Amino acid sequence: MTDPRSRVLACVDDAADEIVDFAARLIRLPTVNPPGAHYAECADLIGSQLTELGFAVEFDEPEPLAEHAGHPRRNVVGVLGGARRPVIHLNGHFDVVPPGAGWTVEPFGGLVRDGRLYGRGSADMKAGIAAAVFAAGAIRRADLRLAATVEVSGTVDEESGGLAGVGHLARAGRIAADRTDYFIIPEPFGPTRICVGHRGVYWFKVAALGRTAHGSMPFLGANAVDHLSAFLEAVRRDLAPVLATRRTAMPVVPDAARAASINVNAIVGGQAGESSQTPCVADRCEAIFDRRFLEEEDAAQVRQEIVDLLARTEAADRARRYELSDLMTVRPVRTPPDSPLIGALERSIDHVLGQPAHQVASPGTYDHKHVAGIAGVPHCVAYGPGILEQAHQPDEWCAVEDLIAATKVLALTVLELGGSAR
Ligand SMILES: [Zn+2]
Repeated sequence: MTDPRSRVLACVDDAADEIVDFAARLIRLPTVNPPGAHYAECADLIGSQLTELGFAVEFDEPEPLAEHAGHPRRNVVGVLGGARRPVIHLNGHFDVVPPGAGWTVEPFGGLVRDGRLYGRGSADMKAGIAAAVFAAGAIRRADLRLAATVEVSGTVDEESGGLAGVGHLARAGRIAADRTDYFIIPEPFGPTRICVGHRGVYWFKVAALGRTAHGSMPFLGANAVDHLSAFLEAVRRDLAPVLATRRTAMPVVPDAARAASINVNAIVGGQAGESSQTPCVADRCEAIFDRRFLEEEDAAQVRQEIVDLLARTEAADRARRYELSDLMTVRPVRTPPDSPLIGALERSIDHVLGQPAHQVASPGTYDHKHVAGIAGVPHCVAYGPGILEQAHQPDEWCAVEDLIAATKVLALTVLELGGSAR
């Protein structure tokens, strides 16, 4: 058996139990974010597995922020091959969202039953990390020397924006356009789907400012809740229907997410939530909005649309006054359609699964934004085991079969991009 591909695939098959066991051990560390628990232990666990597979391992500890007190951030990077080019980087985030209610299995038990690996983070995305680690490891075990460098990293905080994780590695120059050629993020898009980017997001807050007065004489004040509701109505009546008519050419899934959208994420006004209430006219009411925008829309224009709508709503009643604050803007990203990464993954998917690959794009953002935006690396995709719809759900699971298949696909992709040197 001298065909390098067959040798690598055989090594993945031989390691199948180890791969599942490693993913289960990752799940048993409850790396819940917020607050960012057990990060150091999880980075160490990934690091020791990478060391065992022959990687040189480095740790990266971003400067702690006040809100990280008691929960230090630690990223891990394993390097195989030193200075050879191209550099192929596989990256997974090891933070998970809180388990929430409704579980029938132990969320951090790492249970394997009926061909499924269960637990918070199984799909999103500890199976993906195991696939990345062992894909690269299988090439090493097959005794194939690549003409490339393979890097595997485990990073923090993706679920809260990724600034201390991939964002930090990118700002530190560890992931950079002049040293990183290809970047694969094994997020759970499924074993036949390649994710080539995501929509943009503009998060903003609108505060309606009123004037307080006695609640029994509201005509003496100006009620901020009323004023905010006028803006909410304008969004619902004038903006949302227009957004729904804008559709992107990007293959966003599910199909309904191909349109631009706006959501009210939160609202708070007057004395809401305060324990002792007094009869007052609400003098402040705030809402947080989540506007998802398309590659075809301009970020500045997206914001201007809100500014204009606020101005029109204000003009309709002299008592209304609004303040707009920008919370976060992430531009849409898209992998170049002719990227060698896409072709290599498509061929590997066909080889392993005998099925055609499908390109998709994500409705929400993930770490691709930092790879493209901060590091400036164009050749980035997401490809990994697990079903997207399982992410953040109770009884989250990943099919063992998908985990092994995705490991094989990643291994063949690295092999093709890296070129076997012997
Ligand atoms: Zn994820």
